[in-house]
Amino acid sequence: METQALSPGLLHHAEFAAPPMAERVWVGIKRHVISLMLDEREVYTFDPEGRLWMAFIDGVNYKRGLDGRMVCKWVTPDRTRHLRRLTAEEADYVLRWSHQMAVQSARALPAKADPACRDALDRVCAWDVRAHHLDAQQFRQVYKPVSILPPDQYLALVLQVSEGCHWNRCTFCDFYRDRRFTIKTPDQLREHIARVCDYFGDNLRIRNRLFLADANALVASQKMLIPLLEVVHEAFPIEPAGLAEEELRRWRADHPVRFTGLYSFIDAFTGYRKSVQELRELQQLGVRRVYIGVETGCEHLLRFLQKPQTDDEVLRLTEALKEADIAIGVIVLLGAGGDRFAEAHVRDTIALLHRLPWGPGDILYFSELVEPYAGEYTHHARQAGIRPLPPEQMHEQRRRIDEALKLPRGVQRATYDIREFVY
Ligand code: SF4
Repeated sequence: METQALSPGLLHHAEFAAPPMAERVWVGIKRHVISLMLDEREVYTFDPEGRLWMAFIDGVNYKRGLDGRMVCKWVTPDRTRHLRRLTAEEADYVLRWSHQMAVQSARALPAKADPACRDALDRVCAWDVRAHHLDAQQFRQVYKPVSILPPDQYLALVLQVSEGCHWNRCTFCDFYRDRRFTIKTPDQLREHIARVCDYFGDNLRIRNRLFLADANALVASQKMLIPLLEVVHEAFPIEPAGLAEEELRRWRADHPVRFTGLYSFIDAFTGYRKSVQELRELQQLGVRRVYIGVETGCEHLLRFLQKPQTDDEVLRLTEALKEADIAIGVIVLLGAGGDRFAEAHVRDTIALLHRLPWGPGDILYFSELVEPYAGEYTHHARQAGIRPLPPEQMHEQRRRIDEALKLPRGVQRATYDIREFVY
């Protein structure tokens, strides 16, 4: 890997030899990250406080979540992509190894090196396995598990305005089965935000969006929701919409720590009841994009999945959102309904997606059904004699949907792999 690849936005760096560990060690500091590279063979990234964030060791990529979970992914010579969650012991091994590499690098850092690099390495060295464990414990006291986010929101600051899912019965989803649905009161949210800010401290500056979790915070009535969004505004500067370029520049200069907006999931089967006027109020309060688990345009398949929405509700919700100037992230569930629904799923999904009011800033996500993560779905499918689609047939479903759709400029199409997520 070339150090140039790590260098846009580079503030400080040092390069030195550290035999026998590495002939060339490179330390780089950017506003959001500390990087350590050994002989272009191993790369570690740490957050500005020194926690391990990502590692690349022997061709395998590791990513650590603040709750201590770690996932790894690698590609075999036949170009197959592999991905799995590490056991606690394996995660500790990666932490221990990365810590050793940081300690040895700090020892070898020349005395005349940029002092900012020494400070950064000292911060990293303070994070041994035990410090990571204690930190994960503290994180778990602040948050209920952050079960999932849309991929473009992985770096958002999550605020658990509500907990759980008010429906919680879709067979393929067990993200929130461990908790009852509740919406915080303004005081509870204030307390949650205080604890979130206390936990993140200076690390808040690496987050520039606010994600209103959990599954469907926006299901709350307007009467409950508006005071909650006002509490969010009390705590965080959120970029106002509709400012002229010069005004926006001034606003940004006055707010060095700021957030570009609010983001959230919304379900179509209750979301469609919000009027354009109500959605506009949310937009005025900073809601910029919402994510809708459309899954499929096939209503028979939706019934099989026990998701209670209709195509008409998806259409009504998305049209109202557009009128309110809120972008949409639409998630399609590839492989849903296996071989039994394969044809109807593709055909009806194309038909529904054709009717949606796409525009710049929208995202179409393709998420593959991952059976070990699919809760009751697998049991229901087996009972119904449905066979799962192998990965190549799910890719084929995506290809057919992709090819059939002519989306306007500015709409992104992206992969949503739930197995990759750690927060
Ligand atoms: S898919 Fe969405 S609505 Fe269904 S149970 Fe999961 S979080 Fe709730």
